[in-house]
Amino acid sequence: MQQRIGRDIRIMAMVKAEGYGHGMIQAAVSFARAGCDCFGVTEIEEGVALRGAGIQGQIFVLLGFQSSQEQLFFDYNLTPVVFDYQALKLLSQAAMRNGKELAVHLKVDCGMGRLGIMPSELQDLPAHLEECPGLSLAGIMSHFPMADDPASSHTLEMYQQYKKVCVQSSLQAPGLCHIANSGAALYFPETCGDMVRLGISLYGYYPDGAKGRQDEGAETLVPAMSFTTQVVQIKSVPAGTGISYGHTFITKQETKIAILPVGYANGFLRALSNKAQVLIRGQRARIIGRVCMNLCMADISEIQGVKTGDQVVILGSQGTETITADEIAERMGTISYEVLCLFGKNNERNYN
Ligand SMILES: *Cc1c(COP(=O)(O)O)cnc(C)c1O
Repeated sequence: MQQRIGRDIRIMAMVKAEGYGHGMIQAAVSFARAGCDCFGVTEIEEGVALRGAGIQGQIFVLLGFQSSQEQLFFDYNLTPVVFDYQALKLLSQAAMRNGKELAVHLKVDCGMGRLGIMPSELQDLPAHLEECPGLSLAGIMSHFPMADDPASSHTLEMYQQYKKVCVQSSLQAPGLCHIANSGAALYFPETCGDMVRLGISLYGYYPDGAKGRQDEGAETLVPAMSFTTQVVQIKSVPAGTGISYGHTFITKQETKIAILPVGYANGFLRALSNKAQVLIRGQRARIIGRVCMNLCMADISEIQGVKTGDQVVILGSQGTETITADEIAERMGTISYEVLCLFGKNNERNYN
């Protein structure tokens, strides 16, 4: 991604939500090894944990803080994102107590309809900063709601609005303007500004589920996560057998099934009942019947030689077949982000 956007643009690696399920600390360590020196988390405790794990560089806390937590920004050298003027006051008081200047970034809602001060409130910014000794305005950030859609005109329109906001805020050099997420960095490179905040692309997925655009010889992203399990039992059942709770699947002929120790408690949601596929011996097998809390069943009638203990791929590749988080997301009615969070947070993680 650094090659793609150019060397001069900083990358904030988003490691929130347990690194999109990949493990916050392990993800941050990997990105740091690859040269990244800027990380984004939602909660202040995550920033503290990153420091505890030895992560250096700048750590942004995107979702504010509770009053009483201000001291942590100083103790752990964390950078707050501020989205209301009340927070500025609290941080200023803390800065004075510490006798240390604190750099803050201001979040402005230029069209996301979510967190951030409204552009119309910006006119009060200079007065507020004046009343907040000990603080310096080091950046203006915003967030795109539709940058994952290369065909939408909204992103460039909103970017124009954002640029006006940056000028209005009278941000001084070397302040940073940052608005782009993965979608914007990939599909609207002109919006990259000084820094991009990348999440999903760093974990190997395109935000819109694309397999990669073959344009301009761009690199293809490669998913980092796989999710595997093993067959715990194999059996053949006659035609007319109801499978799992509610008997939502009745076999039409004699059917060989593999029982897998994965269920919705592992993030393999019940919504995938009778929908998902898994890979066994390099071939696709359908999940039949309801997904239970810790178990599900795959139809292996067409797959020769399956044995108890065989590896089963729920997410990832086996032989020449691949199941992506986008495929699972589509069957689940969601996006890859949610699949990665679910699988990553509800299972033992191994790294290689
Ligand atoms: C999560 C997040 C990002 C990263 O988005 P991706 O689509 O995963 O690249 C960027 N900015 C903010 C404010 C975020 O919350």
